[in-house]
Amino acid sequence: MDCLFCRIIAGEIPSKKIYEDEDVYAFYDIDPKAPTHFLVIPKKHITGPDAITEENCAVVGKIYAVIAKLAKELGLDHGYRVVSNCGEDGGQTVGHLHFHVLAGRLLSWPPG
Ligand code: 5GP
Ligand code: ZN
Repeated sequence: MDCLFCRIIAGEIPSKKIYEDEDVYAFYDIDPKAPTHFLVIPKKHITGPDAITEENCAVVGKIYAVIAKLAKELGLDHGYRVVSNCGEDGGQTVGHLHFHVLAGRLLSWPPG
């Protein structure tokens, strides 16, 4: 298994876990870009946003529901941003679909 996030899900690489169910895993980013920065990922290996299909897309809705629940639990009352980078120009560095959740400061728009 050469996927970093699959290895994190399997517990082979330690992570600061926030949430887990049969389909979804959430953990804090190792290099936070905001006071709160965590990642929410499907347990099933999907290489990125460009690999989402009608067949595998149900987990994406579930991930957004998990994000809303965690945001409430973590008290992100001022708002947050969900980001999913895709490909080289999108800034994707890990080839396992992931949703960044960033909060705790005013985030600029548009992104750089
Ligand atoms: P991307 O750049 O693909 O959108 O996001 C990958 C994210 O994974 C980055 O924000 C990076 O800091 C994070 N990351 C990379 N390696 C690890 C790791 O070993 N553990 C954790 N918790 N996050 C990681
Ligand atoms: Zn993977």
